[in-house]
Amino acid sequence: MTSCIINRETKAKASSSDMLYQRRIADNQVLSAKLELHLRGSRYAGVGTQLLGIVSLGLAGFYSLDPEVMLTWATSLLLLNFWWSRRINQTLQTSRHFTQRPSVFNELIVHAAVSGAIWGGTVIWLDGYLSDLIFYLCVCVVAVISVVTIAVSVVIRQAYLTQLIFSLGTVACWLAWHANERPFNAGFAVLLVGLSMFLIVASEWMSRAFSEMVETSLERAAMSKDLASLSDSLKTRNLQLQDARRQLAEQATIDEMTGLRNRRGVNIIINDELARMKRLQLPIALIALDVDHFKTYNDTYGHPAGDLVLQRISTVMLEMTSRAGEFAARMGGEEFVIFYPAANRSTALEVAEELRRRIVELDIPHEKSLTAPHITISIGVVSCVPDWELEFDVLLKASDDALYLSKTNGRNRITFGEVNVPEE
Ligand code: GH3
Ligand code: MG
Ligand code: MG
Repeated sequence: MTSCIINRETKAKASSSDMLYQRRIADNQVLSAKLELHLRGSRYAGVGTQLLGIVSLGLAGFYSLDPEVMLTWATSLLLLNFWWSRRINQTLQTSRHFTQRPSVFNELIVHAAVSGAIWGGTVIWLDGYLSDLIFYLCVCVVAVISVVTIAVSVVIRQAYLTQLIFSLGTVACWLAWHANERPFNAGFAVLLVGLSMFLIVASEWMSRAFSEMVETSLERAAMSKDLASLSDSLKTRNLQLQDARRQLAEQATIDEMTGLRNRRGVNIIINDELARMKRLQLPIALIALDVDHFKTYNDTYGHPAGDLVLQRISTVMLEMTSRAGEFAARMGGEEFVIFYPAANRSTALEVAEELRRRIVELDIPHEKSLTAPHITISIGVVSCVPDWELEFDVLLKASDDALYLSKTNGRNRITFGEVNVPEE
């Protein structure tokens, strides 16, 4: 992927569908980042280089020219550099996005031209006053400034080239034009032209490397932003999935029509509950119930009305199983169970009686019932202190048997059944 970003040729050749990652960094974004990099580099290093030149040329001129003139020249340049440094700082503070301020680029070019012209002009100005040795040293200082400046100002190559042409170019032209006035003017002119050529080529390499570096880091920033938002949305997705899975699991254990546990829901919790009671050696109770003459009810009032009856009975069962460990479940059709931990025979029978009474008190008309003119239920109750071998199915079978007895003995009644385990 990195080579995809760096290698422009490969990028151009590859069809967009071949690429895993599409380049999305706009050219003006790259320019903006480069401008910022340039300004950060030049506010101290660039100004520092200029100071080096001011001190060197200032000292050279100090002994040959009027010191006051030289001091005025140095002070003006210092003030100019101080002002430029402040301007860069202000620009960096106020505009993070240089694309919104295209004038920054123009300012840089103008500054490069002015500062190049100052150095070129200074050398030309000093030409009339200095000895050969000092003059050529000054030319070297300007050349050194041009070489050193490449490190900080090549990010914006246009600015660097402008400065180069206005400083070294001007001096080279001046030396060539006055080739006969000093012994080495022609040689220095050729050297400066050669150096300028080299700097032009080197600046192209360096500028390209900077651009690719800036581009790569912008691409990386964009990619890591994408990755962050991707991982955020994955986290959200994960939470939604967990939620959906929990809801599904819950739905799979709950009977949709009545809201009671279904057989699967019972299986999930009953073993833990039984084990707890086995450890504590406390009695447990299971109450099985079945609606009397329910087929006739459906036939008389319709299936939807039968559903409503089942829902109302379930509501009563839910109300009666609100404590920890207790639960009501629909085992199928119109058959239900209630499980009570820590309930002995008398408690279980009391609860069963309350349940039977409350269903009667619902007073749901059932004119075709052979038992009563309203809905009734038959109940089978078992209670025992569970031994280690006792399984839920044994309890269920025993409560079913007791329920069967209630049915055969006339319905709307409770029968206590024995489990082959000694009670409390
Ligand atoms: P008994 O007093 O002996 O229990 O007689 P019964 O008619 O209630 O017993 P039977 O087992 O013959 O009939 C059970 C009926 O329960 C038959 C079936 O249509 C009805 N039933 C089972 N599940 C549902 C349900 O979800 N909704 C409705 N409305 N009826 C149901
Ligand atoms: Mg029935
Ligand atoms: Mg039945």
